[in-house]
Amino acid sequence: MDTDTVLREKLAASTRILAMQGLIGVFGHVSAYDPGSKRVFLSPGMGADRSTTKPDDIFVLEPSGKILKAGEGEVPIEWPIHTTLHAARSNALAVAHLHSPYATLFSIVDRPFRPVTLQGALFAEGIPLYREANLVKTPEQGRQLAEAIGNQRAVLMRGHGAVVAGLDLEEVLFCALVLEDDACKTAQAAALGNVGTISLEECRAFDAETGLQRRSHRVWKYLAGLEARWDRQMSSGKIPLFP
Ligand SMILES: [Zn+2]
Repeated sequence: MDTDTVLREKLAASTRILAMQGLIGVFGHVSAYDPGSKRVFLSPGMGADRSTTKPDDIFVLEPSGKILKAGEGEVPIEWPIHTTLHAARSNALAVAHLHSPYATLFSIVDRPFRPVTLQGALFAEGIPLYREANLVKTPEQGRQLAEAIGNQRAVLMRGHGAVVAGLDLEEVLFCALVLEDDACKTAQAAALGNVGTISLEECRAFDAETGLQRRSHRVWKYLAGLEARWDRQMSSGKIPLFP
């Protein structure tokens, strides 16, 4: 299969799995970049049913934002999130913008995100905050967001959501799920008492980066299998990643 076909199929699957997991609903989109053809593949925008996204629904853009091939419905209004991050970092070949329910709490509360589980050690240095309470609709705003994320794996967007970047769609899916899981556990633990976090040194000792590709590809395979049997009813397929 050529790169174009592979990326379209994976991007459609990634969108459906994120919908099944409750991380993409009315809002949110995912992209992948092909450095060979310098093209950005982007999932459909608001209004499209992401639980049924097909390879043909995927938009194809130039890095400038020019649409080379239209997909289902409208292109996401925040397309510059994707084009600027792909351009800014060679290790951001896949990017997800999500309004993840628990992770978004950390873009609202005056409390920095710190990992509370070993898997959360992926975010050893915490997660930076993009402070502008706006939609990223222009390349200039995209550059500000790219500056905020720096070389980190994710950035929170104030009162809005999060962006996760990675080497491939498997890695971005896994990291987005870990981020949401860690944020959820923090919120639940805070209701019980003081929250203990995993320190930077402990995160480094655990070394979540080792085997990340292997782990994220296994999780992808597992969730893709569940998605294939999903009844498409929102929330019915959602499973905790680390029950
Ligand atoms: Zn948004």
